Amino acid sequence: MKFVDLSAYTGKTKNKNSIQFYSQSIKDASLQIIELEKELRNAIKRQEFELYLQPIVNLEQNAIHKAEALIRWNHPEKGLILPMQFIPEAEKSELINVIGHWVIKSACEIVKKLSDKGYKIKISINLSPSQVIEENLFSFIHNCIREYKIEPDLLEFEVTEGVLVNDYAIAERLLSKIRAIGMSVSVDDFGTGYSSLAYLKKLPLDFVKIDQSFVKDIVIDDNDKAIVRAVIAMAHNLNLGVTAEGVETNEQLKFLKKNACNSVQGFLYSRPVKFDIFLDLIKNVY
Ligand code: C2E
Ligand code: MG
Ligand code: MG
Repeated sequence: MKFVDLSAYTGKTKNKNSIQFYSQSIKDASLQIIELEKELRNAIKRQEFELYLQPIVNLEQNAIHKAEALIRWNHPEKGLILPMQFIPEAEKSELINVIGHWVIKSACEIVKKLSDKGYKIKISINLSPSQVIEENLFSFIHNCIREYKIEPDLLEFEVTEGVLVNDYAIAERLLSKIRAIGMSVSVDDFGTGYSSLAYLKKLPLDFVKIDQSFVKDIVIDDNDKAIVRAVIAMAHNLNLGVTAEGVETNEQLKFLKKNACNSVQGFLYSRPVKFDIFLDLIKNVY
């Protein structure tokens, strides 16, 4: 029965109507997933997660006005684990909602700590697709804002294109509520998904984040240049701000400035850092 269960589970994660025979590799893979799920549950209890902050620099003011909250897992044996190694797995179960709640709460705590020190810096939070369709997400966010007594306009949420297309009606409702109380919304990794212009026009959005894959070769690749110029022009015509991700060199920065990009994020300014280091960063430039 166990083997049947494992085969059925594996089959379902691949395709709706698939046939999946049992094998040792299936068993190993499933055991690994079960183990990871167990560890993730423990990680929450043992407070092994930490939010790193990566500055986002406003190019008009040349100042850090925002930071993206990026989760890290301080594993007791394996050391620092990056989100791509556990978020996709967590997204397959309700674990992502548990982790997501922790992220939102911790981000509010960061906003509070920064505000208390006199820094009005917006914190941008990544939302997984399954969080967007989570029924009580908005009330959870609202409660956190009240609990930490923070200004809603110091919070931003990043959603990816897929969720806007696949769950349009639900996304629309959530994003409207988010914006109604003064928080903002950005489209993350723009250009890598559907890039449907219909949703950009209709949905309540504030910013577009150009994916780092377009920024990477912006100096040498004429196609990337054309795409980035076009995205900036389109976003501005729709009254949306533009942030470029993955900016690593001065040449990339120069191109983005010349083409009226509003803000940038990348290793050129800083890698994602722990809260205390982030404080040092803003103390020097704020
Ligand atoms: P993302 O939201 O697109 O975040 C940007 C990623 O680009 C981060 O990777 C960041 O470290 C990296 N990055 C920033 N500047 C540069 C640069 O100049 N060069 C290069 N090569 N990379 C740069 P990270 O922290 O590993 O996060 C990866 C992804 O994991 C994020 O992509 C996001 O989709 C997801 N993620 C991170 N934290 C959370 C979270 O709290 N919740 C959810 N649901 N997803 C998260
Ligand atoms: Mg993001
Ligand atoms: Mg991104």
